[in-house]
Amino acid sequence: MDKSDIISLPNPHLRQRSRKVSVISDEIKQLVKDMEQATLSWEDSRQHEVGVALAAVQVDCLDRLVIIRNNFNDKADRSFQVYLNPKITKKFGDIVEDYEGCLSIKDTYGKVARHSKIKVLAKNLQGKEVRLTAEGFLARVFQHEIDHTNGIVFVDHIKDSAEAFYTLKDDGKLEKKDYQKDIKNNKSLWE
Ligand SMILES: [Zn+2]
Repeated sequence: MDKSDIISLPNPHLRQRSRKVSVISDEIKQLVKDMEQATLSWEDSRQHEVGVALAAVQVDCLDRLVIIRNNFNDKADRSFQVYLNPKITKKFGDIVEDYEGCLSIKDTYGKVARHSKIKVLAKNLQGKEVRLTAEGFLARVFQHEIDHTNGIVFVDHIKDSAEAFYTLKDDGKLEKKDYQKDIKNNKSLWE
């Protein structure tokens, strides 16, 4: 797989709930490899962005499976952690607003409010139960990816927020989008 296998809005599958992964089959293991390749291929095509994470639905497989990069700050570390059936069991800490983008939403970034701290329950690719507490940016990434497994994309959280939408300029800076013109009635985002 490569970046062309990543689906984007308005593909309606992005708003469907994924099904639980019950057997860690060879197909699931291959899917993980494909998702990693697709994410890295996307990253290699972008100058200013890191392919931080991906949910299986984004390569059009409705399995509850997400991959998250091990190191957000070092592009040379191209390894990921795999989480099957990830679930948030507790949200706490402050509500923090920060910028988010998505490999399935072209040229649109948004300022999204998320919990600063969460507890996650999942399984790893060996079928072992994983429990962890995530804070800060990692907590944000988990909330964004687990939303994907439930058919929610980040723009859904800020649909009516005229001030929350941004675009990435060629120099890597974010610039506010014209909500009335580019967002409010943008069929590809809301259909
Ligand atoms: Zn996303």
